[in-house]
Amino acid sequence: MESNILLDLKNVNKVFGNNHVLKDINLQIERGKFITFLGPSGCGKTTLLRSIAGFYTVDKGEVWIDDKLVNDLPPYKRGTPMVFQEYALFPHMTVFDNIAYGLDIQKRPEGEVQQRVEAAMAQVKLTGLEERYPHEMSGGQQQRVAMARALVMNSPIILLDEPLSNLDAKLREEVRVELRTLQQELGLTVIYVTHDQLEALSMSDYIVVFNKGAIDQYGTPHEIYYEPRTQYVADFIGTTNFIDAVVEKSEGEMATVRYGQAGDTVTVTSKERLIVGEEVHLCVRPESLRIRQPEAGEFKMTGIIKSSMFLGEKERYFLVDEVGSEWIVDAYDIGKTHFEGFVQMSAATDKIHIIKKSN
Ligand code: ATP
Repeated sequence: MESNILLDLKNVNKVFGNNHVLKDINLQIERGKFITFLGPSGCGKTTLLRSIAGFYTVDKGEVWIDDKLVNDLPPYKRGTPMVFQEYALFPHMTVFDNIAYGLDIQKRPEGEVQQRVEAAMAQVKLTGLEERYPHEMSGGQQQRVAMARALVMNSPIILLDEPLSNLDAKLREEVRVELRTLQQELGLTVIYVTHDQLEALSMSDYIVVFNKGAIDQYGTPHEIYYEPRTQYVADFIGTTNFIDAVVEKSEGEMATVRYGQAGDTVTVTSKERLIVGEEVHLCVRPESLRIRQPEAGEFKMTGIIKSSMFLGEKERYFLVDEVGSEWIVDAYDIGKTHFEGFVQMSAATDKIHIIKKSN
């Protein structure tokens, strides 16, 4: 039976000189999923993508594609075409010729090239634009040409390295939707590299968060956002308020922690194995905090509003608490209330997430 795992990376390491760029990467990617490699510049995303494609050989570890060990295979034998920034279309070639390029290199018969290119163009809804040149197409259409180029080769995985980074904000959003729709309709396996967290959250089935050449977390966008495993992940994805706390009680998935000057406690669920007396971070997203009196058992904090900012669908408040730590609270009932001065903040217990300091 065909395995559901299309890409299996085992202990992959890559070193450039004395720069250890990839550190023991272990990752399994399922067929038909949209996976994003997310992380700041220089964390090794592109290096891993190029190692999968075969442009780099790994120094240690194994790269398996479709149950085949491909460590020693050159790129063209791996079936993993890469689509780069700016799509790397040939400006002097028509759309048809751009898409046919890979097949021409393989010296496929003309009839087969014609038929496969037409099929790929139909898949990405570009039929009729065969004779256009890249500069005569919109950014979104160019993106689709680049996808068709990959599709025409019948590759199992499509690797995209920041393909949208040169588009303006509005077009970027349109092409994002198009790309995700195409991937879902055709059941493609896509690995997408970006440092844009919103892009990652909105497009992916799974996100891989990189931290200095290692994987900090691999999970669904929901898990990455609401259950970050490390402070680094919580910080990198969106905005998070942190406060130090100490574990007072831990039973199964329930933990009671003590936090703040007044020594308040809150009982929350946590999938982590926590030890009584352990120091942890509590984290809470700005949209999960409310400026209002706490209800019994809720997380609570007092602060002084320093400034606020209108962000369209919400008002963002910047506060400091009694020990001078900064807090951010997003309020969505704009226009009805405006807060100033000394206030109470609170959050429901299911909005409080615990991160182990040792992670
Ligand atoms: P970006 O978003 O800026 O592309 P990235 O996360 O993709 O960042 P990489 O391009 O993988 O990061 O680079 C990771 C590290 O490896 C960097 O320190 C970079 O300088 C180094 N590096 C990448 N390619 C090479 C190479 N061919 N030779 C030497 N060092 C390299």
